[in-house]
Amino acid sequence: MEFDLIAKHFTRATPSAVLGVGDDCALLAPTPGMQLAVSSDMLLEGRHFSPQDSPAGIGHKSLAVNLSDLAAMGATPRWATLAIALPEEDDAWLTAFARGFFRMADTHGIELVGGDTTRGALTICITVMGEVPPGQALRRDGARSGDDVWVSGAIGSAAMALAYRQGRMFMEQIEAARVLPALYLPTPRVELGIALRGIASSAIDISDGLLGDLGHILERSNLGAAPIGARLEFAALPTLPVVQRYLHEAVARDCVLAGGDDYELCFTAPPDKRNAVEAAAQSAGVTVTRIGLITAEPGLAVIGADGQPLAIDHTGYDHFAA
Ligand code: ADP
Ligand code: MG
Repeated sequence: MEFDLIAKHFTRATPSAVLGVGDDCALLAPTPGMQLAVSSDMLLEGRHFSPQDSPAGIGHKSLAVNLSDLAAMGATPRWATLAIALPEEDDAWLTAFARGFFRMADTHGIELVGGDTTRGALTICITVMGEVPPGQALRRDGARSGDDVWVSGAIGSAAMALAYRQGRMFMEQIEAARVLPALYLPTPRVELGIALRGIASSAIDISDGLLGDLGHILERSNLGAAPIGARLEFAALPTLPVVQRYLHEAVARDCVLAGGDDYELCFTAPPDKRNAVEAAAQSAGVTVTRIGLITAEPGLAVIGADGQPLAIDHTGYDHFAA
């Protein structure tokens, strides 16, 4: 029965694998000379999605958040495995989930080569594998004083959609419709990550919020190197027009600075790479915005419209004093 389920929903041609789904292991032949980038992300019902969410959307998002980690590393997606626990064998649910999953997979040229299927509370654990030339991965530890800080796309949208869904924020329905796709159908910045090889000095994908994730770059880059910090301009942060309309509310500013789930890339690059960064973004079809600088002064400061730093503690972000 389980074999039928796997055969029907999760078995596709895998031309880039030596052996895909169906044996005890998949067999993969990495491109000679390339390094493998490997990452896993787990999504739990109730925590990362709710039972009412569209199964196609869950399929999309569960692979997208994993691809986002490859993007943040500058890796080319190659293979994935999918471990899934299901409370029951629901054919319609699985069909829709697989549709969302494989559409995302096909968009980024990643092949499902194996996994595990079991009965249990709905849980999805995906492992992705990608390739990157030696020495060219975009790591978190390469930021240096004087580098620009960049972010792709627009931030805060997914967190605002969540705040709206949870009733923590009021929005007109037509406005909510503009931010909800960021929450349910995030776009991993795979092409941008690849285009930034050899240009960005560090990178991370924004899953936990801009300040927290930039904080991770600072922590890693501080290890064994001269201490650094960052200084951002709040007014420079790229947001959708609908988000801008709510920035007078503390909850909306929170979403932009500390909301997660946008899966945009935050990265650093020396100022002499500005043209190269812009060209990389253009080739990837993504906008990028310079939002601040890496400084020799430790700590993370966000400068508000009045030229004064906003209230932020050293661990990252301490919510606005309104
Ligand atoms: P085993 O008992 O050796 O772990 P399984 O019965 O769990 O084998 O899986 C049979 C085959 O199906 C294996 O090749 C496994 O990788 C694959 N597989 C199982 N579940 C999934 C899934 N959800 N998606 C993709 N492949 C799967
Ligand atoms: Mg198994």
